[in-house]
Amino acid sequence: MSKQAQIVAQSTQYLTPSYPRLPLAMERGAGARIWDADGKEYIDFFAGFGGAGIAGHAHPKIAKALCDQAGKLTAHGNLFTNAPQVELARRITQRGFGGKVFFCHSGAEANEAAIKLVRLAAGRGRYKIVSFDNCFHGRTMGALSLTPAKFHKGFEPMLEGNIALPWGDLDLLERSIDERTAGVFIEPIQSEGGVHIPSRQFMQGLRRLCDQHQLLLVCDEVWTAPARTGRWFAYQHFDITPDVMTLAKALGGGAPLGAMVAGPKWQDILQPGMHGCTMGGNPLCAAAGVATMKLIEEQDLVTRAAAKGQWVIDTIRSAKLPCVREVRGAGFLVGLELDQPGMPVLKSCLEKGLLINCVQERILRLAPPLIIEDALLAKGLDILLGAIKAL
Ligand code: PLP
Repeated sequence: MSKQAQIVAQSTQYLTPSYPRLPLAMERGAGARIWDADGKEYIDFFAGFGGAGIAGHAHPKIAKALCDQAGKLTAHGNLFTNAPQVELARRITQRGFGGKVFFCHSGAEANEAAIKLVRLAAGRGRYKIVSFDNCFHGRTMGALSLTPAKFHKGFEPMLEGNIALPWGDLDLLERSIDERTAGVFIEPIQSEGGVHIPSRQFMQGLRRLCDQHQLLLVCDEVWTAPARTGRWFAYQHFDITPDVMTLAKALGGGAPLGAMVAGPKWQDILQPGMHGCTMGGNPLCAAAGVATMKLIEEQDLVTRAAAKGQWVIDTIRSAKLPCVREVRGAGFLVGLELDQPGMPVLKSCLEKGLLINCVQERILRLAPPLIIEDALLAKGLDILLGAIKAL
């Protein structure tokens, strides 16, 4: 039995079967390349569901930041603060809309913090939150209650009062708001839902409605930021400012790091003792976050994501593949909607040494690390187009 087959076999013995896994065990990576435990190399257009989305794997600057910090101090508890978390919060708020930051480890936790903040800020017994069809906000009970009903099965009851509405219908949204509504959660670009970009008109109308009804607008940027869509944060495509923003995945450069950013009006709502996270903002993960933010600036990865992402979209479109219904995306978050299930393409890419992802059954999602070299990007795209042609 190969080393990989052994690990996979043991995984079924010791790990809960909660993930629909492929029979692969990953062992090491370098930039946008990753190797499995049997030594097979893959070009990585998947980037760990975006978790390795900026610097890819084992980036020397992120590795150095982690090693240096690991040799100094890794956990001290939030009775104290530390320089890396302050530095990271400064960088996030300066690139975004000011405010203050609460750190945690994951997207779901960041959204939990935002749900609490929304309830607290809305006051007057308001607790209902609106989200949108096809959204994804995480698996913890609060975040799950904002995520479509197909994920609720067996875990009900959800948080009371939350509703999901069709994407893009402002009239319906206005009719659905009542005296108990506290806020709206939206991914400025839906990722798990199939890479959908809302119209500018919808996003601006949403901002207006939130202002009119004193609702907090929360942008879930867990997939879309920092830098992935060709802006620091995806809300910036629409010339709106959210009240709250949540971040995770790529923020930690591969280390577990999440953040909730409360805008200036709401930045002091969570008073001491109201919320917490033992390891949130620990200096180890915060140092990796700072190194990631620096890398984005040093290599101008915002511009690179915008330019190269457009090149990817143009290249796929110009191939004029009959089974590709639509190619859409922003920056390095690209979706190819097929007229048939995407799994055969994913499997064929896997055989040929390319990792991609398939969401909503027929949508292939491409999300390479932003540092990917041009030649590797082109090679990966060749493999993908070849696999689609062979359908
Ligand atoms: N929000 C969005 C937009 C996501 O796509 C995800 C996960 O894919 C989450 C939240 C949950 O993040 P995590 O898995 O880090 O809890």
